[in-house]
Amino acid sequence: MTAPKRTVGAPKGLDDDAVDRTVRRTVAVGMESVSVTYGDTVALRDCSFEVARGETVALLGPSGSGKSTALKAIAGFEQVSAGTVTIDGRDVTRLSPAKRGIGIVVQSYALFPHMTVAKNVAFGLRSRGADRSEIAPRVAEVLGMVGMAEYADRLPRQLSGGQQQRVAIARALATRPNVVLLDEPLSALDAGMRKDMLGELQRLRAELPDVAMVYVTHDQSEALALADRVAIMRDARLEAIGTTEELFHRPPTRFTATFLGGADVLPGGALRTSRPLPDGDHHLAVRPWAWRFTRTAPSNGLRVTVEQEQWRGAVRHVTARVAETGETIGVDVPVLTEAPLKAETLWVEVDPADVMVVPR
Ligand code: ADP
Repeated sequence: MTAPKRTVGAPKGLDDDAVDRTVRRTVAVGMESVSVTYGDTVALRDCSFEVARGETVALLGPSGSGKSTALKAIAGFEQVSAGTVTIDGRDVTRLSPAKRGIGIVVQSYALFPHMTVAKNVAFGLRSRGADRSEIAPRVAEVLGMVGMAEYADRLPRQLSGGQQQRVAIARALATRPNVVLLDEPLSALDAGMRKDMLGELQRLRAELPDVAMVYVTHDQSEALALADRVAIMRDARLEAIGTTEELFHRPPTRFTATFLGGADVLPGGALRTSRPLPDGDHHLAVRPWAWRFTRTAPSNGLRVTVEQEQWRGAVRHVTARVAETGETIGVDVPVLTEAPLKAETLWVEVDPADVMVVPR
């Protein structure tokens, strides 16, 4: 008798079928080489990633990079021109959105204006033909989860934007979906409300340990606060995917370094690093907060001339031109420290541990 084959890294004692079942169970959303085109525009090109049960993946990227299109492909709102979408191991590529069993929250809330909060939240349960006796307690439960239990009889127009978004979240959760998709859910809210709702979403996330979430945003602070892994989107492609820590501290591409954390990219060799350098061609990248201005030549730094200063609340963001390369870099200076003067020529210094190495 031959021993059963095992997948690399599979738990011991599981045969192939059992391994397959385990993998299928843990992958909640699968995108396999998915492309979406609108006429001549390729909005998503050969995109592959997976979202595990209980995991939040943020799709982060500039406007027009294909984030919403990827979400719509998962939801079934857009037909894919190539590739496969799976939910809980099931191929749903040709299935209508209603049959995919997912909850969706969009930027504009999209509540039914003539229905009360309770009716809005009950909508999905009713259209599935859920029992009356089941609907009322479930509506009360999810409204409680988002802190809106007292507003059940109001109409959407009697609520603030933040309250409407809470109702939209309750509505998405009512049918107990395994997968929840959120498309820029905070971007219609004012800054204060956004911060509160971000905290609420973190709390909700902890209450839903089995739910997979995909969160579309152009705001890196939302992505870093909520996501286990971040998928960086650029020009209709998935540029990079990894844990928030990995992508932030060891950006795999130049675009990732600049987009996530606003690093400036410098030629390899411009500075010392604490990590060994790779054999291949590489860039160096430094974040604005890692620089310090100094009026004496530092052991690890660059000669710069100050061009511009922008007050950003807790920091002043200084734009400085590097003498050697002519490129500009951003330097954050705490407001309480003395900032350099415009047109002043001095140095910026950085700890070698804060110099990131980025493959070219
Ligand atoms: P993001 O969500 O990152 O802002 P989208 O996924 O909405 O980007 O858009 C990706 C690309 O597809 C963009 O170039 C956009 O102009 C194009 N696009 C999106 N929706 C449509 C549509 N319905 N018809 C034509 N082009 C579209």
